[in-house]
Amino acid sequence: MNIQMVDLHTQIAEIREELDEAISAVFERGAFVRGPFVAQFEEELSALYGGAHALGVGNGTDALQLAYMATGIGAGDEVIVPAFTIFATAEAAALLGARPVFVDIDPATFNLDPMLVEAAITEKTKAIVPVHLYGQSADMDPLLDIAGKHNLIVIEDAAQAIGAEYKGRLVGTLGDVGCLSFYPTKNLGAFGDGGACIATDDVLAASLRKLANHGTERKYHNELVGVNSRLDALQAAILSVKLPHLNAWTEARQKAAYHYDHALNEIKLVTIPPRAPYADHVFHQYTIRVPAEARDDLGVHLKACGIPTMVYYPVPLHLLPVFQELGYAEGAFPESERTSREVLSLPIHPHVSEEQIRYVAETVASFLQEPVSASP
Ligand SMILES: *Cc1c(COP(=O)(O)O)cnc(C)c1O
Repeated sequence: MNIQMVDLHTQIAEIREELDEAISAVFERGAFVRGPFVAQFEEELSALYGGAHALGVGNGTDALQLAYMATGIGAGDEVIVPAFTIFATAEAAALLGARPVFVDIDPATFNLDPMLVEAAITEKTKAIVPVHLYGQSADMDPLLDIAGKHNLIVIEDAAQAIGAEYKGRLVGTLGDVGCLSFYPTKNLGAFGDGGACIATDDVLAASLRKLANHGTERKYHNELVGVNSRLDALQAAILSVKLPHLNAWTEARQKAAYHYDHALNEIKLVTIPPRAPYADHVFHQYTIRVPAEARDDLGVHLKACGIPTMVYYPVPLHLLPVFQELGYAEGAFPESERTSREVLSLPIHPHVSEEQIRYVAETVASFLQEPVSASP
């Protein structure tokens, strides 16, 4: 059985003709940067987000950086970020001279624990950055309440959560700016890098657009120091072909997750991904917990059985070498630390079959239920 973490070949084969046509159209038009293909995709993305402004940018990390820049975050400011997320969430703030202030996650959701946020706020705090990890929304209402009370910006890292909902509303539109990534393995993936910022506020949207284009709306009349971060036309054309399929692909992921749940539920040492009652999970990842002492061996065993797995993320941000200067010690965020030792992401994508899922589950079960052989 050929099982992959992500199966882009099957997805491409499914829409090959449309993709070829779209790519040829870009070649024929010769508009490779900005231009009609990007404008069209931005319109389609805006429609998905209920008419919010959508700006195509170079990648998801740039989307975060631009969100920080457009909301005025810079040197000396503090930004509240979960201790358990991808490096980029904090990196983009640190690059601007801001200080990432970490907060532990709620182990029941893998997301920022709203109960712990207020204690981390100081007079330097500018923003809260919830990450909708693995495709499930953070608990936004309490976070938005806290932000409102302390006059903080909310930037949503929705890179893993395109189409995910919180109480029936799309994540990415709940805070001030929503950040998306179209990295090839994301739920909506380009054939290279890509990303987007979503914003409902007209002024903020204009500022994002300006900053992404060297700080100007008019060439040679730069008003701000910005960056050059563009979604290129080929990627936009490819994303326009893929976007209409996103719903069906998301449903296929959710169905695969449901099959995993049923197949893994009986295994005592496995905790299946929790579902928050307020969230509609889009399963960018299907991430189980297993006892920390078994996690790495299980990964090795699965690999030997032809099953790839990944650990997202093995080191919580406060323990990364680069953030040692921030002065956090081990033990500062116990749930993030424990989670980084227990999580294992199993293969999930729209084309993973029920048979493959059963095989993965059986292999997990047979490994974990084997008595651990004691060393002599
Ligand atoms: C992928 C990802 C990013 C960064 O996106 P790139 O397009 O790779 O720059 C940021 N945050 C999260 C949560 C991600 O999963």
